[in-house]
Amino acid sequence: MLAGARTIRPRLAQLLGPKAGEVDRQLGELIDQAAAGQSVDVSILELLAERPATRDWIAKYLASDKRRGFTATPGLSGHVDADKYACPIPGCTSDWAKSRQGERVPGCAVHHVTLVRVGTT
Ligand SMILES: [Zn+2]
Repeated sequence: MLAGARTIRPRLAQLLGPKAGEVDRQLGELIDQAAAGQSVDVSILELLAERPATRDWIAKYLASDKRRGFTATPGLSGHVDADKYACPIPGCTSDWAKSRQGERVPGCAVHHVTLVRVGTT
């Protein structure tokens, strides 16, 4: 996921135009956090999933990356009510709701990418 974040940064201006600066700044912070040992895969996916242009880009990137063994981020600690997750691939309807704290977020059975948190049920 980090490799994806680094790969997309030079392309942000083309994908997002004037909004690229803000996303680039947030991606930079996440990359810094990863360097400090934090798990940022989900945050990166959520950031990129906020905008159709970057969502499509990372979906294609992950689809081509799956053979390298991209795996789900282990269950996040902290609050869990019923976080809802969905496949980031455009047009895919796979989704899943977390019902227990610590439960591991599954991947999409079709695309083998980690489901992205899209809100709460
Ligand atoms: Zn899918």
